Amino acid sequence: MRVSYQHANVHSGNESTLLRFTTAEGTRACVLVDAGTGVDVDSLLADDEYLNAILLTHAHIDHYRMLAKNVRHNAPIYASPATATVLEQALPEARKDNDVGTVSDALDALEPIDDWTSILASLEVRPVSAGHTPGAAGFVLRFRDANAADGLVNGEQHLLATGDFTTRPCAGFPGLATAYPFEIDAVLLNVSTDDSYATALNDSLRTVLEHAYAGSRVVVATSSLTGVHYATLVGRVTAALDRDLPLTLVGQAAKLYEALGLDVPGVETERVFERPTAVLEQGGVTIAGPETPTRGSASHLLNAIEDDPAAVFVQLATGDTEAVSDVRCTTAAVELRNHPSLETIDDLVRDLVPKQVVVKHARGDTLNRFQRRFDHCFTWGTNDEDIHRLYEAGEWLAPGWIAESTATRIRTRQWEAVQTRSIDADVAVPAVQRRSVDLGAEGVDLEPLESAFARGSADPYAASATEAASPTQPAPETDTSNDADESIEAELLDRLETIESKLDRAANEEGETVRARVLTAGDGEQFLRLVDQADLDAGAVVEITISASDSRQ
Ligand SMILES: [Zn+2]
Ligand SMILES: [Zn+2]
Repeated sequence: MRVSYQHANVHSGNESTLLRFTTAEGTRACVLVDAGTGVDVDSLLADDEYLNAILLTHAHIDHYRMLAKNVRHNAPIYASPATATVLEQALPEARKDNDVGTVSDALDALEPIDDWTSILASLEVRPVSAGHTPGAAGFVLRFRDANAADGLVNGEQHLLATGDFTTRPCAGFPGLATAYPFEIDAVLLNVSTDDSYATALNDSLRTVLEHAYAGSRVVVATSSLTGVHYATLVGRVTAALDRDLPLTLVGQAAKLYEALGLDVPGVETERVFERPTAVLEQGGVTIAGPETPTRGSASHLLNAIEDDPAAVFVQLATGDTEAVSDVRCTTAAVELRNHPSLETIDDLVRDLVPKQVVVKHARGDTLNRFQRRFDHCFTWGTNDEDIHRLYEAGEWLAPGWIAESTATRIRTRQWEAVQTRSIDADVAVPAVQRRSVDLGAEGVDLEPLESAFARGSADPYAASATEAASPTQPAPETDTSNDADESIEAELLDRLETIESKLDRAANEEGETVRARVLTAGDGEQFLRLVDQADLDAGAVVEITISASDSRQ
């Protein structure tokens, strides 16, 4: 067997790859992994070559934009069942803004797989769950080679194409496994990284919850698939907090949610709405796409709330998105890219101990960063369109530009690293199937959200208020003897404590008197809505002094 790779769009996203598997008898299988911008298999395939399969890792448009245009020779498009479901919804929708070719060409060829599937007698493929976005998969390609020299069972070799991945689960879909019941010999490694995902996620959750629980109308604008992911997390968080919140997914995000068969407690869906007010609620969260609200559901909802200073418009940006401005409602723009940290990528390569790593989904500086990153395997950080041989005549090959002595050193290190790792034949390869959501594993830091928002959470101000009233007495655990004024004050301070602080400190130090109206949610809770404009950021924590003249208004 001979195995080679060829970048299929090295001048665009470089996430797409053409793999060639050629048997000793000369039979060749050509397998395209993803079909992003600029992919044209006709320019890659020789006259006597045919496409045997396309592997679609996930339903992000940078990976499927050219899918329909590259379907050839009755080749199936293999995808996880969930990604196939999403694509059926997403591809017709994507046609509105993109030249995606004839949608039916892709959908007719679409073949969901969840187990080993034969491409040749000696070549099989299987999806493995990869976190990142609902339904995302990597693919393991397993080939048998009678020439395999190193005495492996049946001469089986394994190549893993990670696709975009996280080792974190995503909306219950497992993250990419770092251990397999067989050796991973080669990896096509997507190296998009993001070190601030968890911070961005938790900051956004705080912003959304604090405004919604304070009675505001909150709109979250994001891509449909991220909307589904986000709704799952918000739904699970509010359940964990035991504080219900009207949570509505609308438009395309609603369609995806329903198509995936998701059923998170508290999440409602409205595929179509006549008037924005039908899907907006005081103290509720509405999730809509796209993330740039120039069209679609997000733009209708923004129009409906832009003059309401109490409303909040949160953009979860997964791509290059312009932040909304010139509106009276509060806005927040959060970059939320669900990719692994650099450290996670390093750990993955260390754990898998492959002989070969082909760096994907990177160009320029990012590519250079990974060129010499791993010293116990051959790293192919190429940026050309050549056909590079990875494996031939029973052996994984060193890149041609590496000196023989260096290659020997790398092989020795790889061999040593493999010795310290034991392959557990019983370890399961995670299928692309939803499991129950583990908020912590998904990157949600529940504890601060609980102390801020959970019912009956400790009230940090109640104790000090009581202490101030009777400084020599320790504050009792529960004090029902507080007089009415004190309990109202404590309640108000409690409500404000739930507001996260990003206060403009200069303004705060000078002090400013503004009027606020006391509102009640009807269930005994109270909060303040500012009557006067104040120079405060959303989420700011302020200290208030109750004065009679203010409360009379
Ligand atoms: Zn992606
Ligand atoms: Zn991508």
